[in-house]
Amino acid sequence: MKHIENDDKYKALSVNKGVESLPSVNPYFKSRIRAKKRNLSVSEFVEGILKGDITILGQAVTLIESTLPDHYVLAQEIVEKVLPYSGNSMRIGITGVPGAGKSTSIDSFGMHLLKESNSKLAVLAIDPSSERSKGSILGDKTRMERLSIQPNVFIRPSPSAGSLGGVARKTRETIVLCEAAGFNKIFVETVGVGQSETAVHSMVDFFLLIQLAGTGDELQGIKRGIMEMADAIVINKADGNNIDKANYAASQFRNALRLFPKPESGWDPEVLTYSGYYGFGVEEIFNLIKRYEEFVKGNGYFDFKRANQAKYWMYQSIEDQLKENFYNNPEIQSLLSIKEKEILSQETSSFTAAKQVLDTYFKKQ
Ligand code: GDP
Repeated sequence: MKHIENDDKYKALSVNKGVESLPSVNPYFKSRIRAKKRNLSVSEFVEGILKGDITILGQAVTLIESTLPDHYVLAQEIVEKVLPYSGNSMRIGITGVPGAGKSTSIDSFGMHLLKESNSKLAVLAIDPSSERSKGSILGDKTRMERLSIQPNVFIRPSPSAGSLGGVARKTRETIVLCEAAGFNKIFVETVGVGQSETAVHSMVDFFLLIQLAGTGDELQGIKRGIMEMADAIVINKADGNNIDKANYAASQFRNALRLFPKPESGWDPEVLTYSGYYGFGVEEIFNLIKRYEEFVKGNGYFDFKRANQAKYWMYQSIEDQLKENFYNNPEIQSLLSIKEKEILSQETSSFTAAKQVLDTYFKKQ
């Protein structure tokens, strides 16, 4: 039997013609925003950055992060022009697993650094997971309550588009812009879980590993490679009844570090305990960083490392652009999908398919 509600005569709901609603944004206001956001020229960007204009700096960083080819070209021109004004900073990489206290510590570290006159701090981040989750919490302003309201601070979450290499390049270019805008302290935050440390290590002068005291076997699960990169290991949350455990963890880390070969810098990595939340021991960490800076500037390693990093980034940039050019080529894209199918149905081998695709690409050049 037909349900009563399916009868045309049955109308429980009738829809009245609605009243057209007003636009949610004042149209006059909208045009004002647009007028304000008119596209700046390269020289206006450069001038703004060199004057330390944070709004213009932010807009230039947005161009760096953009995936639009026009923006890329513009961003590269800006980076190129401000490059001679960059370099004058201490770049500090900060890593630690989620929950280690990175944001609490950065808030505390930053407030400490701002006590020095002329300190300007940029907090940047590299988050390899942000591509998947479409957004990074690293470098998020809301996590750094005190810092985020300071005038001499520029906080920028991790760029989220592209491969780790692409994300890292964007952060590195952002460092250049920030330095040109007068930021003389740069923090680059990352999560202590893998490859992203190598990327951060390749762009900073000092690498700080934040650790927590555990339940005994302190070194468990920490990748040797990450420990080897660290110029200092700092054990956070050394407060309340956690102090003894933190000291114990510190001694374990000191013992472990002794077994590592001496780093190229000639600097013996140190281990300290502190509390990011209460601020205990923060001054000691920055005294240590200062000693490191004097040491590596004295023995020439500071400049040597920066020069090598520049060399590394040239190769990284070449690789990125080759890949991008290759994978964005429409002919290659369609050929790749054909070859994928052929491989899956075992009509061809991966090597033969790769050779055919590459041959097509290079013949095109
Ligand atoms: P992140 O994930 O590494 O950025 O870690 P957070 O800074 O968000 O800190 C994780 C948790 O540890 C938060 O609940 C913090 O309040 C807490 N925490 C951070 N630093 C300290 C510290 O020095 N002492 C104590 N007791 N807790 C801390």
